[in-house]
Amino acid sequence: MSRYLSSRHAGLEPYVPGEQPKDKERYVKLNTNESPFPPSPKAVAAAAEAAKKMHLYSDPKSAVLNEKLASVYGIRAEEVASFNGSDEILSLAMSAFCDAEHPAYFPDITYSFYKTIAAMNCVPFYEIPLRPDFSIDVDDYIGLKGMIIIANPNAPTGILLPLCDVEKILRGNPDDVVILDEAYIDFGGQSALPLMKEYDNLLIARTFSKSRSMAGARIGFAMGSAPLIADLNTMRGSFNPYNVNSMTAAAAVGALEDEEYTRNACRQVIEVREDFTKELRSLGFELNDSKANFVLARHPKIPGGKLFQILHDDGFLVRHFDAPRLTDYNRISIGSRHQMELLVAELKKILEAYPNEKS
Ligand SMILES: *Cc1c(COP(=O)(O)O)cnc(C)c1O
Repeated sequence: MSRYLSSRHAGLEPYVPGEQPKDKERYVKLNTNESPFPPSPKAVAAAAEAAKKMHLYSDPKSAVLNEKLASVYGIRAEEVASFNGSDEILSLAMSAFCDAEHPAYFPDITYSFYKTIAAMNCVPFYEIPLRPDFSIDVDDYIGLKGMIIIANPNAPTGILLPLCDVEKILRGNPDDVVILDEAYIDFGGQSALPLMKEYDNLLIARTFSKSRSMAGARIGFAMGSAPLIADLNTMRGSFNPYNVNSMTAAAAVGALEDEEYTRNACRQVIEVREDFTKELRSLGFELNDSKANFVLARHPKIPGGKLFQILHDDGFLVRHFDAPRLTDYNRISIGSRHQMELLVAELKKILEAYPNEKS
């Protein structure tokens, strides 16, 4: 730390992303929930075309992209805005809608970035414990007097909160913003989008990183009532007016013109996830039904950190979280069928070799 850093940032602990090794090809990389599929060829072609004009600034409003999103999702263009990844939405929303009187509320086990951005924005926050089975108790989220953030499906649990429960939370907090982080909604969940008409406190955060195979392009979008979106645009214009670069905006439009490609990719991920879940259970792993492109699993015989280490040594990257309630588990991204077959074979080998005593 330099002697110049503001004291308000002295305790800041940045988000710890999953490992991105330089020699990625050497690993079966299942640690950051990336798509095993490349982006749509239409996205790649559109980005290449847009690159020819990179001497010009991008459109600060991302108008073409927003109109395309509005038509794909059946809403008005004023009800959507685009961002440099959905992480940017979450951070700007925290800054816009929270202060000392309006803290942020989110589950104790969820996307750890929420805590990071609360600290960054000097916003007080409360972590609401999930039930022992990692499900959300909706009664804990009624009348909170602050902004609520729910990842749905939740990460890293993969558990989906049903729409009727989402609605109870929206109805139970009419004077506060409720953010639904739907990063993984395309893998079998039901979006809160139909509730937008009725609830002007609903803000949906979406990303192209997972289901649309564009994590490296950095593009997310927010959907909500026009006044909420206007507030986010004020924040965006005050923070980084050209937040979406022209290659990425073009790529996103290209991807949206190829929705069949996305649907097909998601269908394959879901199929592989269901088969992999069965395989894990037959090997004695314990896991919830995931509605995301990852599973969270533990084995009664091997501590989570130990399994992580053995897999790592053998060239398999998964994610282990050093949090008290998660230490027994590993989060495993759903890769290609071939990658998951390699992993199952590896897990069989590890389990056969592992001592029967829990060490
Ligand atoms: C991956 C992820 C995001 C971030 O998405 P980006 O658009 O890549 O910034 C947001 N929320 C959750 C829960 C995620 O897992």
